[in-house]
Amino acid sequence: MRILITGAAGFLGSHLCEKLLNEGHEVIGMDNFITGNPENLAHLASHPGFSFIRHDVANFIFVPGKIDGVFHFASPASPNPASPYGYTNLPIQTMKAGALGTHNSLGVARANNARFLIASTSEIYGDPLEHPQKETYWGHVDPIGIRSVYDEAKRFAEALTMAYHRYHGIDTRIVRIFNTYGPRMRIDDGRVVPNFLKQAICGESLTVYGDGQQTRSFCYVDDLIDGIYRLFMSDEHDPVNIGNPVETSILEFAETINRLTQNPAPITIKPDLRLGDDPQRRQPDITRARTILHWEPKIPLEEGLQRTIAYFKKKLGKA
Ligand code: NAD
Ligand code: UDP
Repeated sequence: MRILITGAAGFLGSHLCEKLLNEGHEVIGMDNFITGNPENLAHLASHPGFSFIRHDVANFIFVPGKIDGVFHFASPASPNPASPYGYTNLPIQTMKAGALGTHNSLGVARANNARFLIASTSEIYGDPLEHPQKETYWGHVDPIGIRSVYDEAKRFAEALTMAYHRYHGIDTRIVRIFNTYGPRMRIDDGRVVPNFLKQAICGESLTVYGDGQQTRSFCYVDDLIDGIYRLFMSDEHDPVNIGNPVETSILEFAETINRLTQNPAPITIKPDLRLGDDPQRRQPDITRARTILHWEPKIPLEEGLQRTIAYFKKKLGKA
């Protein structure tokens, strides 16, 4: 297939490019580098099946030639206002990537009669009142909260995707991605994994926001990409959660990282740095992915973290 990937220079987009090329597809990457990095694609530049277009997906998308598939991954993804790459500092760009970017990417799929997959998120469940989160849960989102620029854009993106599926008959897929980590995350985008790993590798205190009792469930990138590829190749149009169901509190997570990196610095609790609508508990119910896609994550947290630590050590010149 000849496939367009928006957000190709980002963390997940770059791994997806690699996966699709390895599966024998032709890939056209698209990105405007607002949170991504050209370095993430440097190793693919000479691949005969890969090409790249620098473009903001909020504007009309033109790709020469026939396209068979579109993956829409372009969007800032970190909530952290302490980072210039956090979507809380890029609110309009985030809403445009989720709304106009989804509209334009769906337009490419429609014009080419191509298959379409949208990167949605566990954030569409907001600060969930149901636990673990099943795809049937409608969510608990503050429409004007600090995280709403991301949550509501993704909810709109899902609705628009279903509208194109129902009204125009487009062959669509929706993946709800839960916290994923691994090599090529931007070291300074403020998400918890790069923040903690950078601090731990430099022998600094890990900054736990709030009391650290909030939970997340972390999936290693290779597992996630495998699940997304299976979804793309399936016939499933309804949303599917992809993530690792092993749940951990942020405090336990910080302790694990300190142990793995042998960081002697004590953990610092930062009650004021926790965002107002930071979800208290997050864990995917992956029954649908297990049954429909015969998928489940294989890489245990400590193994995934070791691989990611090796990547960040190199980045920081501490290998
Ligand atoms: P990332 O910031 O590393 O990648 C996003 C990419 O999109 C970047 O390269 C950025 O430059 C590009 N981009 C943003 N706006 C654009 C625009 N208007 N035009 C063109 N390119 C644009 O983040 P990521 O973690 O790789 O996330 C990728 C996608 O997966 C996002 O849609 C995100 O919402 C979704 N997601 C990620 C996670 C996760 O844990 N990593 C969880 C849930 C959902
Ligand atoms: N967090 C933290 N310290 C940090 C960065 C984040 O304790 O240096 C917390 C944050 O408050 C949230 C969790 O870690 O509860 C996950 O945050 P992240 O930014 O990775 O993404 P989220 O899952 O909230 O979208």
